Amino acid sequence: MQNTSHQLQGKTALITGAASGIGKNMALVFAKAGCAVAVADMNQAGADATAKEIVAAGGKAVGVAMDVTSEEQVNAGFDKAVAALGPIDILVSNAGIQIVNPIENFAFSDWKKLLAIHLDGAFLTTKAALKSMYKDDRGGVVIYMGSVHSHEASKLKSAYVTAKHGLLGLARVLAKEGGPRGVRSHVICPGFVRTPLVDKQIPEQAKELNITEEQVIKNVMLKDTVDGEFTTVDDVAQLALFLAAFPTAALTGQSVIISHGWCMQ
Ligand code: NAD
Repeated sequence: MQNTSHQLQGKTALITGAASGIGKNMALVFAKAGCAVAVADMNQAGADATAKEIVAAGGKAVGVAMDVTSEEQVNAGFDKAVAALGPIDILVSNAGIQIVNPIENFAFSDWKKLLAIHLDGAFLTTKAALKSMYKDDRGGVVIYMGSVHSHEASKLKSAYVTAKHGLLGLARVLAKEGGPRGVRSHVICPGFVRTPLVDKQIPEQAKELNITEEQVIKNVMLKDTVDGEFTTVDDVAQLALFLAAFPTAALTGQSVIISHGWCMQ
């Protein structure tokens, strides 16, 4: 891994969905780069465990219980984070779930649940983070966890593809509104990363498509990569670190795809 020491020294980040997978590793990498991290997740025990790991390694962190679909919990979580660590300079809106089903079988309740986590969550956390970032025009960076599915469609993922495309719109509006006040925004768009979210999909897709789990990995998930490789949690964390540490608004409003060439644009 590249040397990331001090790139975020003196900064404070709040990362949602940071009890697991991409968000958890990003919290650890940001902390190593000198950032104080509010580890937010609806899984409070997991959030506290990640924060404890950071503190044990000499970093600064606090676990924050937060269901990102609840305005009340989001605002209370930000208040707790700011009280413990100071104003938020970096928001990573990362919490997410996946539900796979063809449209004709997709329950409306599942559609609403997925959109609420990905889109309401992104909106509510952005609004809460801007209280810190707009105060005295201190500025900041908001990173949304998009996906290759912010640009491409896949069968069975109507709600997810819709939500991930939607994040591009929010990020671009924020880049325009926040630009004059020092706030930048980006969408990170990973290809498949082996996390609990993906591990759950493999047997589900195998069943739905009537193929083996190995075929799901090789012929569905990694089919269009240049080298048949998964993107890793470290790949995503290093990209987030780069975007968070970039010093000017020369780079804002972008979606950056990190997918072993699955999606090129
Ligand atoms: P994960 O399942 O390992 O972690 C997701 C975390 O989000 C969990 O800790 C979960 O408790 C939390 N969460 C779920 N609903 C929540 C809510 N309402 N409020 C607060 N926290 C909530 O998944 P992951 O693979 O690390 O995914 C993280 C993000 O990356 C998601 O937005 C996902 O769509 C995106 N993504 C993942 C991949 C991949 O291949 N794994 C690829 C592209 C994008």
